[in-house]
Amino acid sequence: MKALLDRIREGEILIADGAMGTQLQSRGLTPGECPELWCATHPEDVLAIHRAYAEVGSDIVECNSFGGTRYKLRHYGLDDRVAEINRAAARLAREVADGRQYVLGSVGPTGAFLEPLGEETEESFFAAFLEQVQALEAGGADAVIVETMTAVEEAAIAIRAARTCTALTVMASFTFDPQPSGGYATMMGVTPEQAVEAALAAGAHIVGANCGTGGRDMVEVIRRMKRATAGALPLIAMPNAGMPTLENGRTIFKEKPEETAQFAVRLVEAGVSIIGGCCGTGPDHIRAIRRAIRQG
Ligand SMILES: [Zn+2]
Repeated sequence: MKALLDRIREGEILIADGAMGTQLQSRGLTPGECPELWCATHPEDVLAIHRAYAEVGSDIVECNSFGGTRYKLRHYGLDDRVAEINRAAARLAREVADGRQYVLGSVGPTGAFLEPLGEETEESFFAAFLEQVQALEAGGADAVIVETMTAVEEAAIAIRAARTCTALTVMASFTFDPQPSGGYATMMGVTPEQAVEAALAAGAHIVGANCGTGGRDMVEVIRRMKRATAGALPLIAMPNAGMPTLENGRTIFKEKPEETAQFAVRLVEAGVSIIGGCCGTGPDHIRAIRRAIRQG
């Protein structure tokens, strides 16, 4: 199989998966449960989600490993099972990929803060990300995506861990919100331009945006990132299925697949090489995206 970066360099647009979390919830994952543990306890459900995305034409299968650092697994008393859970996540994705899809390990934020804002050190973050990305590589991942990031320092440490200690292709993706004063920034005040600069300096191969307020806002974020990269890095976009709304205490995403697909077309026009979905997107959204992107 040709390397992912080579296909992008040749101008191909690759389709990635939609959400994992909301798909697990629809299969019975309860709010108090560890989603990543399902790689060990409910492998058939995780495989079924991967297969559903493969069947609608995803080129990149994303592992169920988003909260797989020891920081996140500690909340469930599972921090001694980081290697096992991440290896299992990558193996399940690899089983479905079967030489037709790239396996992308998901690496989410630790949920902790670096000094002086929090109590964590750079060394401790580095060790946690290293442990996760090495296990993903051992399980068969081709690439990792450091995603839903809001702090550049944390993202940079995760990127460096993957770049210096693995042979994986490394993507970095941030989550932006529209600002009252105009423009876009992460929860930690990072602009799209600053995110690109940090990802590039840390050695990421691909940079972009995921989650957030949906495709409409992401088009402008991607335009800004495109200008900031000056062609140095390919871009990825994985928007949520629109703005989340709260109904009876549950977060609902109402965007129809056709609407998501229209934003996907605009995101590709804005310069992304990889397009997928985040929270609330399912196989129907990815099918619609693929049709819209690949038509003609
Ligand atoms: Zn999301």
